[in-house]
Order: sequence, then C-alpha cells, then structure tokens
Amino acid sequence: MHDVIVIGAGPAGLSAARWCDELGLDTLLLEQAEQIGGQLHQIYNPINNYLGVKASSGAELLGLFTASVENSDFDQWTGVSIETVDLRAKKISLRSGEQLQSIAIVLATGVRRRELGIQGEREFMGKGVMESGSKQRDQFAGSDVCIVGGGDAAAENALLFAEVCPTVTLVHRGKKLRARREFTEQLHTHHCITVFPESVVTRILGEDRVEAVEIQRREGLKPFQLAVRGVLVRIGVTPNSGLFREQIQLNDDGYVSVNGDQETNLPNVFAIGDVANQTAPTISGATGAGATAAKVIASRLTSGKR
Ligand SMILES: Cc1cc2nc3c(=O)[nH]c(=O)nc-3n(C[C@H](O)[C@H](O)[C@H](O)COP(=O)(O)OP(=O)(O)OC[C@H]3O[C@@H](n4cnc5c(N)ncnc54)[C@H](O)[C@@H]3O)c2cc1C
Repeated sequence: MHDVIVIGAGPAGLSAARWCDELGLDTLLLEQAEQIGGQLHQIYNPINNYLGVKASSGAELLGLFTASVENSDFDQWTGVSIETVDLRAKKISLRSGEQLQSIAIVLATGVRRRELGIQGEREFMGKGVMESGSKQRDQFAGSDVCIVGGGDAAAENALLFAEVCPTVTLVHRGKKLRARREFTEQLHTHHCITVFPESVVTRILGEDRVEAVEIQRREGLKPFQLAVRGVLVRIGVTPNSGLFREQIQLNDDGYVSVNGDQETNLPNVFAIGDVANQTAPTISGATGAGATAAKVIASRLTSGKR
C-alpha cells in the first residue's frame, strides 16, 4: 500500500512525485515508456519560457529535471504496462501480474499526437513519414514534401521546410487555416508553398518508402496523387485518458475535468498536466499542477481527512 501512485512521468508526474516525496508521502511513479520525460523527448527547439531556465532542447530540460529528482526517495518504475485501474478502490493491476494499491492516485498521462489513421501512415513511419519536422528537415532538403494540418505546428513546419525544399504542399481540412496570422501571411506569399484548404490526405503511397500522397479536394471530387518524398502530420493532440474513460468525468474531447485542487469528481483521484489542460498546455502549467496536487494530498493525509 502506497500513499500515492502517480501515473505518467512527464513534467507533471515528475513534479508531483518529487513534491509528494518531499512532503513525506510514500510515492510510486509509473511510466509506460522505457524513459521518463514525456513530450520533452519531442522538443528539439530551445525552451526559453520555463522560468529561470534556458534549455537548448527538451532533452536538456529533462536532464535538469532528472538531476533534481536524483536524491528523491520515491519509487520509479518505467516500461510499465497497466492492465486495469479501479479509481474508486485505488487499485491498479499491471500486465506483469502485480497488484498495486494507494490512498490517492494522480493521473499525469499527458497527450499524444493525433494520427490520420490512413493507409501508409504507420507503415512508412521513418521511411518518409516524419516524426519531427525540426529534427528531420535536413534529411528532406531538395525533396518535395507534404504537411498535413492547419494549426500553428503545421504552418510553422511548412515554413521551415520551405527553406530547403523545392515544393511544400500544406493540406488542411478547414476553409481557413487556424494558425496565427504571423504564419499564415508568410505561407500565402511563399513561392514554393501551396495550400490546399478543405482537403484531406486519404492515403500515403509507395513501395519501400513514401513516394506520393493521395489528396481529396472537397467531397465528391476525384482524389489525385501528388509525388512527395516526405510527409509530416500535425493535426493536433488527443488526451491519454482511455484507461480511465468510464470512471471519471471527462469533457467532450476526453480531457479530465478537475477543480482548483486538481481533483477529479472522485475523491483522492487527481489529474494534472496536459491530460487535464486542454486550453493552455505548458511545462510550467504541468509542473505547477503537480505541486498543487501533492500539497493537497499531503495536507489531507497528514490531517487524517481521507
Ligand atoms: C514539439 C513540442 C514543443 C513544445 N514546446 C513547449 C515549450 O516551449 N514550452 C512549454 O511550456 N511547453 C511546450 N510543449 C508542451 C509541453 O511539452 C507539455 O505541456 C508537457 O510536456 C506536458 O507534460 P505532462 O507531464 O502533462 O504530459 P506528457 O509530457 O505528455 O507526459 C505524459 C507521460 O505519461 C505517460 N503515460 C501515458 N499513458 C500512460 C499509462 N497508461 N501508463 C503509464 N504512463 C503513461 C507518457 O508515456 C508520458 O511519459 C511542447 C510540446 C511539443 C510536442
């Protein structure tokens, strides 16, 4: 029996576990990936907006986070696969057969990139379908590429690729781009960027690697193929809340609903970071929410009010 089990070791979960440990709680941190850090592994640009820190990348910030939990006493299990969670009973079963129980549970499972779910998307991952624009751009210098999405991430990447690629095609579903004006103005005037609004990529095609995308412009029109070597999908994110979907209150998009103490509608079940923050997901928001949940749990457990 632990005082607290934290699920997810991104910035939110790490902060919560560290705070819980500092406040004297017996804490277990569970992470499904082999490494802690969450989305920090996807950030290849400098992070200048985390107060007091200048990091050249997510990896550098993660190094600072890791150093800061090094002397903590909480248990940290990575590569863990959770089979079921009973949030009311605070019981967790792992695929390995272990049964865990705690007084409080903190959900810090973050978000993952949304996929198109089309033919070729997973098959050609690493073979033309890119994971990161900023990290992989130079591999595609001199090649034609397609970016899917209409928000800031898609627009920013289109501009990035336009610096080194002969053509960049931006395909997005909506009538208008959702990206900020600073990006859209540049996109529409850039000589090698073509924007296809009200369009979808229906297939990613090739033999051993990406050779083309199939694009459908408007319902009813015949799809056509566009030869490209690279595809980057940036159509937003989705919360990792499937594991506990039926048990607690979520909003229509699957984000966990919490009060000002980061507590869900179930007593002693807290949710922190991006999984509970649809509108303003940030590293500082995530670490702050971790601190809030830990302090609330500690004051409850030490006052005997469970
Ligand atoms: C490219 C990029 C650039 C960004 N730049 C900035 C920036 O400059 N400034 C800023 O403030 N923010 C930035 N962000 C956002 C920031 O990274 C997130 O807000 C932050 O990582 C959220 O932390 P989190 O702990 O809530 O979630 P995550 O970082 O998503 O971590 C969640 C963790 O939970 C784990 N998990 C999920 N499901 C389970 C499960 N069932 N069992 C066990 N573990 C599970 C995941 O594997 C993951 O490790 C950026 C994000 C990206 C992708």
